[in-house]
Amino acid sequence: MIIHFLEHSALLLGLCWLLTLNSRCWESYNRGAKLASGILLGLTSVVGMLMAVELQSGWVFDGRSVILSVAAFAGGPLVGAVAGLLAAAYRIWLGGAGVNGGLMVIILSVLFGLGYRALYQRGKVGNGLVTLFCFGFLLHALVLLHFALLPVANSLDIALQMGVPMLVVMPLATVCLAWMLEDIKRRSQDERELRIAATAFEVHQGLLVTDEHNQILRVNQTFSEITGYQADEVVGKQASLLRSESHGADFYQTMWQQLLANGRWQGEVVSRRKNGDTYPEWLSISAVRNNKGEISHYVSSLEDMTERKATEAEIRGLAFFDPLTGLPNRCLLLERMQHAMDAAQQSGRYGALLFLDLDSFKSVNDLHGRGAGDNLLCQVAERLNRAMYASDTAARLGADEFVIMLENLSSTRQHAARRAEQYAMRLKQRLHQPYPIEQLELHRGVSIGITLFNNANTVADTLLQEAELAMNQAKASLRQGVRFFDPAMQEAVNTRLLLEEDIQRGLQAQEFIPYFQPQLDDRGQVLGAETLARWQHPTRGLLAPAAFIEVAEQAGMVELIDLQMLRQACLQLAMWQSTPSTAPLALAVNLSARLLYQPNFVATLLAYLAESGADPHRLKLELTETMLLDDVSTAIARMQELRDHGIRFSIDDFGTGYSSLAYLQKLPINQLKIDQSFVRELNENGSSEAIIKAICALADSLQLEVIAEGVETNQQRLQLLALNCRRFQGYLFGRPMPLAEFECWLAAHQTANQTIS
Ligand code: C2E
Ligand code: CA
Ligand code: CA
Repeated sequence: MIIHFLEHSALLLGLCWLLTLNSRCWESYNRGAKLASGILLGLTSVVGMLMAVELQSGWVFDGRSVILSVAAFAGGPLVGAVAGLLAAAYRIWLGGAGVNGGLMVIILSVLFGLGYRALYQRGKVGNGLVTLFCFGFLLHALVLLHFALLPVANSLDIALQMGVPMLVVMPLATVCLAWMLEDIKRRSQDERELRIAATAFEVHQGLLVTDEHNQILRVNQTFSEITGYQADEVVGKQASLLRSESHGADFYQTMWQQLLANGRWQGEVVSRRKNGDTYPEWLSISAVRNNKGEISHYVSSLEDMTERKATEAEIRGLAFFDPLTGLPNRCLLLERMQHAMDAAQQSGRYGALLFLDLDSFKSVNDLHGRGAGDNLLCQVAERLNRAMYASDTAARLGADEFVIMLENLSSTRQHAARRAEQYAMRLKQRLHQPYPIEQLELHRGVSIGITLFNNANTVADTLLQEAELAMNQAKASLRQGVRFFDPAMQEAVNTRLLLEEDIQRGLQAQEFIPYFQPQLDDRGQVLGAETLARWQHPTRGLLAPAAFIEVAEQAGMVELIDLQMLRQACLQLAMWQSTPSTAPLALAVNLSARLLYQPNFVATLLAYLAESGADPHRLKLELTETMLLDDVSTAIARMQELRDHGIRFSIDDFGTGYSSLAYLQKLPINQLKIDQSFVRELNENGSSEAIIKAICALADSLQLEVIAEGVETNQQRLQLLALNCRRFQGYLFGRPMPLAEFECWLAAHQTANQTIS
């Protein structure tokens, strides 16, 4: 009997297992699945009844109690009811003496299973193996009791005969079946959870899971979309492959410290995509710890911020920039002005505000349409941008009004004003160039008002008003088109403007003449002279270069003075050539950088030499180091060309510039002229002596002459001699003199020198 029950139970269990497995496919249709499970379990009970043990005619024993009770317990009322009904229907159809008893078993099993389920759901009982066994045992004990009490003959016998096998096998079968159903349910639940987790992993944020050594284990699709790396390209690699060079080692060190300390880190980083592009990213990293508290994984979520940043920039752009020209608007200008004023107060250096207004801009709109007007404004903005240093700001206030803010100009008000004005003049020049618009070439002037600032307490708006006021005056004055708000500044500008005009006039009237300062050697022989410009001003008298050279340089007129000096020097050399006492004399002429770099300079100078008949070997040109550095290769080419014609070169004020030995070697020069500051300080400090000594040694090794200027005392002359400098110029021998005086001096000196020797 036991064997029979075992066989029977095993078959039923196998069937049930297959059926429930099947029912997993239907889990998405909950009610349908339950119905199907109920039907299948009911049918299984029927199969059980088909191969039941028939102890007596009409008395069948089988595993239906196990199946139906577990069906009701695990599947609930619907499953239990359907399975029970099917089993009951079959049992009725089967008929026989035990039909009522059989039906009772079916009802008992279903109700017992549902009762257990209710208790289980309320937490009153568990579903452990022991509890399940008890459940099975109790049920089958009840079944047996029910049989024993049936008002049928032999019922007690039958119950006793069935008792032991039933109470041994059936509870065990109940445990097995319940456990199997539970296992299947748990598995399908696990699968469902895994599917949920997998779906949750595929979110809009990029996700990256690494192990404790930061080796990538898993990434999601969004990660691939952001970084360009597919999962198989990064899994197994170090997460550091996503780093860009934007952050230093310190950054990552701090990040890891925080991550280890708090288990979390988040912040903005710049990462690298597969294609090498970098992008801003919001990164959150969480450390995952195992049950021992050790870090086992890191989970990072990353969000590409490129678009968000672009939107922010766009919003910022709308608020702070002029949409037409892209220049900062009034709002941003005022903000930057406040910063600039604070900075100026701290550094003590002046800044300037330039207010620009195009002349008759309205007519462009009226005559050529708004498109042409817009085009013109964009071109103006572009020119302003190109004329600026990075630290300066150009802004558009509206219509044709622009403002430029210059910072860090100078610590003195005068000098800052000069620089601002020079800048304004350069701007004017640039803005005066024709504007190509469609087929037209438009010309527009500009009026500029300037005001200076070095104080954080000034109100930015007031400063703007000052500059605008000055601009309006500039517009009204119709002269230079540049005006200062400060009357004293304007006065200085006016004076200079007058001086410029005066120089122009002086040049035409040939008022610039050379003075001659002798140059001698160690034996007292006169080698020649340096010509120094003097302005014989009709009302102001004789003026030294300090009164006009700088202004002439800024106004672009110094080269005209130089040319007049050169011409007169050539004529003088030619005149001296015919007299033996003056024939060996050489003349040194000062040259400005502007003249040296003028394309036709060489031709002009050669023409002067030719027309005067002067010997080019007697002409020496004095250049300063700094002016050569502007464009070394052009300077060398010019000088070489002139030297091929016999003209010689001297480096003036030597020792005060950069004195780069590299370029000194390349230049075709003949002489170094020690700056007078070293001579003056000869008695005062040892460093001047050392410098002069070094210059003489350098000249010696490069086979150059050395001459010292500014020699005022005999002591200086002797000291220079001791340092191996054998040529001199200075008040000790003679001041710069007009021609007649120089010639008298020369005659007297030569006589005296002859007498001595
Ligand atoms: P520089 O070429 O260095 O000229 C030497 C200056 O030192 C001259 O001043 C001269 O008078 C002065 N000097 C000469 N010996 C002594 C001395 O013993 N003691 C002192 N204290 N000073 C002495 P100057 O004539 O006023 O010329 C000043 C500067 O103007 C020149 O410096 C030169 O850079 C520039 N310069 C003069 N004439 C011309 C010219 O025709 N063209 C150009 N581009 N610059 C010129
Ligand atoms: Ca000189
Ligand atoms: Ca000099």
